[in-house]
Amino acid sequence: MMPDPTPAAGGSFWFSTGDPSRRAPILGRQRFDVGVIGGGFTGLWSAIALLDADPSLRVAVLEAEQVGFGASGRNGGFCAASLTHGLANGLLHFPDEIEVLEAEGRRNLAELVAFVRAEGIDAELEETGTLDVATEPHHVDNLRAYADLTARYGHPLHFLDRAEIQAEIHSPRFLAALRGGPDRSVLVNPAKLAWGLAAAVERRGGTIFESSRVTGLRRRAWGVEVDVAGGGVVEAAHVLVGTSAYSGWMRRLVPVFVPVYDYVLMTEPLTPGQLDGIGWRGREGLSDAGHQFHYFRLSADNRMLWGGFDAIYHPGNRVLPAHDRRPATFETLERHFAATFPQLDGIRFTHRWGGAIDTTTRFHVTFGEALGGRVHYALGYTGLGVGSTRWAAGILRDRILAPDSPRLRLRFVRSRPFPIPPEPARTPAVELMRRAVIAALVPQSTSEMIASCATSTRRRVR
Ligand SMILES: Cc1cc2nc3c(=O)[nH]c(=O)nc-3n(C[C@H](O)[C@H](O)[C@H](O)COP(=O)(O)OP(=O)(O)OC[C@H]3O[C@@H](n4cnc5c(N)ncnc54)[C@H](O)[C@@H]3O)c2cc1C
Repeated sequence: MMPDPTPAAGGSFWFSTGDPSRRAPILGRQRFDVGVIGGGFTGLWSAIALLDADPSLRVAVLEAEQVGFGASGRNGGFCAASLTHGLANGLLHFPDEIEVLEAEGRRNLAELVAFVRAEGIDAELEETGTLDVATEPHHVDNLRAYADLTARYGHPLHFLDRAEIQAEIHSPRFLAALRGGPDRSVLVNPAKLAWGLAAAVERRGGTIFESSRVTGLRRRAWGVEVDVAGGGVVEAAHVLVGTSAYSGWMRRLVPVFVPVYDYVLMTEPLTPGQLDGIGWRGREGLSDAGHQFHYFRLSADNRMLWGGFDAIYHPGNRVLPAHDRRPATFETLERHFAATFPQLDGIRFTHRWGGAIDTTTRFHVTFGEALGGRVHYALGYTGLGVGSTRWAAGILRDRILAPDSPRLRLRFVRSRPFPIPPEPARTPAVELMRRAVIAALVPQSTSEMIASCATSTRRRVR
């Protein structure tokens, strides 16, 4: 296997699509109103939300590596409306709040798109919607059941039979599909989005420090002292934490999440002839409905991104650069790609990479606080954070600036997922969770989750 040409962010293709300027690390002791830890989508959207609410705030973002280095620069770029990891998962845990959560998610996605356009961020945004495809006969019924479920919530997905999906996208494996519109999901180049958000933070007067790894937090009478490797210190009245699957540095977060690795391939650009061979004129974001699903899409320069299937946990919650590459998973993904698009035989994969996903036992973002309410965190997006990080950032902002906000009273925001035990019980517990974890990583919902939830929620919904 050839080495990847771009080692940054685990070798993510998206990181090779620009040349972001490096920012200096923090030096010495500096004072801010709010310190934000993590320069991914959670941290960047949080800084923007704070500065839009109060432009006089002094806000600093502390990023251990480089803006977008984590999952935000490595993901599939599916930017979905759902806050609950799909309607089915939302219904399972929050049947009482699902209408509000669905509406909040759609509003959030619309605002995100409007923001990207208004700020002139070149994130290669494509409002093409989604297609969830069935590749096994039993998936077809599950898709129909899910279409019924979504119709009951006023946002129907449209069922396509075999002939209809084959007319759209030519693969011998596709038996049926569900189409969702751009109000359900859009596509982005996630690294360009992260870089654009960083520039938006700076335009608003925020400061971003890179190569600034936070090592600890200390409560002081006036707020929080934030220690940074290399000797820098931030003094801040409040701290927001958005370090996702890397959150092991903050001990109280360890029971909340499990880092699970997800892997991705990117082809060379498809020629016009190769594109003709597969159709896909609508350029939708695709996922298949298998238990271990794949997600796939086209990039702006017509490469095909192909990811998913495996979900790998490394004992001890390990998140290391060595895990960004996994030849066995890359080979599996290549085999599955060939079976799905045999007409692309011989195409080269120019990039292969992986990244850690912050998974909780409920598969959606969770919130909490530390150090007497001076520190707030959001994590646990479980593979569906490109859109929902923006909504979570609004919650983090409200926790500091608008503690009476009705959104903070949502059970979705207040309740916590079941904790995951420490090692040595953690590895076997994660193995037990594994089936559900893999299923949970689908951009919307796997057919199994769809089927079980469609059945279990029918009673509640009626
Ligand atoms: C391969 C892959 C594919 C995915 N596909 C999709 C998808 O298609 N759609 C979707 O919605 N979601 C997807 N996701 C999930 C999505 O990318 C994440 O939910 C989202 O990016 C999380 O953003 P974040 O800011 O919370 O975390 P991150 O982007 O991981 O950012 C955390 C940042 O914190 C920094 N950091 C860590 N520790 C410290 C410290 N001690 N001090 C300072 N900084 C620190 C890290 O360097 C990192 O930059 C995918 C994830 C992966 C890995």
